[in-house]
Amino acid sequence: MSSRIILIGPPGAGKGTQAARLSEALGIPAISTGDIFRANVKGETELGKLAKRYMDAGEYVPDEVTNSMVADRLAQDDAAVGFLLDGYPRTSAQVDELDRILAAEDTAIEHVVELTADTDEVVARLLARAQTEGRSDDSEDVIRHRLDVYEEQTQPLTDIYRSRGLLRQVDGLGDVDDITERILSSIR
Ligand code: AMP
Repeated sequence: MSSRIILIGPPGAGKGTQAARLSEALGIPAISTGDIFRANVKGETELGKLAKRYMDAGEYVPDEVTNSMVADRLAQDDAAVGFLLDGYPRTSAQVDELDRILAAEDTAIEHVVELTADTDEVVARLLARAQTEGRSDDSEDVIRHRLDVYEEQTQPLTDIYRSRGLLRQVDGLGDVDDITERILSSIR
């Protein structure tokens, strides 16, 4: 089973939920840049203070900051067996950086799983999540902006990975267990 995987999809498509399940099923760490940023915001680190400004506005944290954070994370021992990236790369500069990091280790991404979901559905999910989790970037205006930013900057990355023959599209709507199964069969 291949083990260097990117999970891509709009905010609210269920990447975090699926990343946790896939991490368990495949025995590889799930690395979420959003979670790492949120942990830094909570811990009030310098990185967290910088990231928060962007996150609260629904903007991407600058590439240099995000890239160096990911390079550090991928250098940790647990990522040697493989990893599942949730929420990275999100820009073409991040794709280039990831390529560079992996080439230096003589490895490469094996699968890019795109979780698809329509806009109305993801907005509804994110608004529901705002009520239960109280995330500061889950207000309706910020949600709409995050979806626009995704469409503009991240959606085009699927073409890059499609042209490399790595893209697997999976319907992100429906029963959570079924979606996990669909993802696992798309990478088998
Ligand atoms: P997420 O939990 O993946 O939706 O990420 C929450 C927020 O963290 C995003 O809206 C961005 O502000 C920031 N973020 C997460 N991953 C990245 C990334 N790869 N590049 C830039 N910003 C990111």
